[in-house]
Amino acid sequence: MPRDLVAKVLKSSQPGSTVDVRGWVRTKRESKGGFAFLEVNDGSCFGNVQVVVDGKLPGYETWIKEITTGASVAILGEVVESPGKGQRVEVRANEVRVLGTADSATYPLQKKGHSYEFLREKAHLRPRTNTFGAMARVRNALCDAIHRFFQDRGFLYVHTPIITTSDCEGAGQLFQVTTLDIAKLASGGRESSGSTSPVDYAHDFFGKKAGLTVSGQLEAEIFACAVGDVYTFGPTFRAENSNTTRHLSEFWMVEPEMPFYELEDDMDLAESFVRTIIKDVLNRCPDDLAFFNERIEPTLLESLHHIVEHDFIRLTYTEAIEILLKSGQTFEYPVSWGTDLQSEHERYLTEQHFKQPVILTDYPRQIKSFYMRCNDDSKTVRAMDVLVPRIGEIIGGSQREERHDLLVSRMQECGLNPEDYWWYLELRQYGTVPHAGFGLGLERTLQLMTGMHNIRDCIPFPRAPKTADF
Ligand code: ATP
Ligand code: MN
Repeated sequence: MPRDLVAKVLKSSQPGSTVDVRGWVRTKRESKGGFAFLEVNDGSCFGNVQVVVDGKLPGYETWIKEITTGASVAILGEVVESPGKGQRVEVRANEVRVLGTADSATYPLQKKGHSYEFLREKAHLRPRTNTFGAMARVRNALCDAIHRFFQDRGFLYVHTPIITTSDCEGAGQLFQVTTLDIAKLASGGRESSGSTSPVDYAHDFFGKKAGLTVSGQLEAEIFACAVGDVYTFGPTFRAENSNTTRHLSEFWMVEPEMPFYELEDDMDLAESFVRTIIKDVLNRCPDDLAFFNERIEPTLLESLHHIVEHDFIRLTYTEAIEILLKSGQTFEYPVSWGTDLQSEHERYLTEQHFKQPVILTDYPRQIKSFYMRCNDDSKTVRAMDVLVPRIGEIIGGSQREERHDLLVSRMQECGLNPEDYWWYLELRQYGTVPHAGFGLGLERTLQLMTGMHNIRDCIPFPRAPKTADF
């Protein structure tokens, strides 16, 4: 017989029905009247089901001692109306089986209220806590909402490679993938015959230097320029050594790419995307989000509803710089036209000045990637970043440069060798079209959705500098 999920029991099981509930004990309370009360959680929802255990059940004295916080149990019982407030029903046990004990002297989650730092070292157990159970369900609902948004609009889900040899954007961020014997190379035993470079990648697995992808965009463009609107949704790797609360070395990114879109269309899609997925998760995970609102970030629900209900503000980078210069704020990093915006600047705009999400456009070309379309002013490019309160940048996007010759000169300006991008350039030689796209960071979106302060608590197994323990 398949088990009954706690979510279903709490929501719809009728009093009088028999259920088979299985899960992990959160708390046990023994009362004087010869009863025990167990709070059992199986992860199917935020709530626990209360199980009332009669001390007269066979063997009670023996097995009740084995039931401690963290123990796994199987309960056969009857659904009854709950006299307590806050819950519709509870389960009166007819049969209790202890599947696995959890020694209270050593079980790491015996007590409540551990720090997030401590829990990160217990990545194998933290999903059993309220916070990380809720995070897992919200993450799942968010991914589902993301797919639904694009599928409803006829986008094709394409899979771009994880191992890549097209070293797009800054090489410093690339994790190298190799089968060369690094220890041997380091000790002087050459894997190669080259004299200028110590390593000859012709001898490496792929016959050339390879790495983990920092973005699926360039390959997504191939498909956008063939089958229409597409999106990628997969893991992305960046070896940037930034120990911040907003950066991971491995994170998930959603990257739609649309032919025949210009920047305005791109912004419209990005805005509608962010507002729709937030709305969907608000509808689907009310209990989990109520918990985050109560325990993590008291403005959470209010701010999420505000985002759903209001249009984003749109302005140019140049206008934003003027606002920041006039703000009278002292920033850690001073602002001037031509510098990249830091999180503190992005947060000032969204939290203090506009108090809602902002889309900034037309950034200086020297701080943006080679593939962004150049404006006629020859100073700025058709870039757009979506900035949100509490986090800053959540989306980076642009209209792509579709003019072959301009793209070549931009590559040269950025110190890239156009020959390395021959296939990307051919997309502009054969049937080029205007197109645009953006990238949304999944874990930053989860920070926004849950109010969790550190991005390392928004992914099951965080990877960051010196951190890859599970
Ligand atoms: P930032 O300036 O904040 O480091 P970026 O400009 O390098 O970000 P993009 O290359 O534009 O980021 O990537 C698109 C989106 O991917 C970002 O808006 C963000 O949501 C997410 N993202 C980028 N880098 C990381 C990272 N290291 N960890 C988690 N999410 C990231
Ligand atoms: Mn960006």
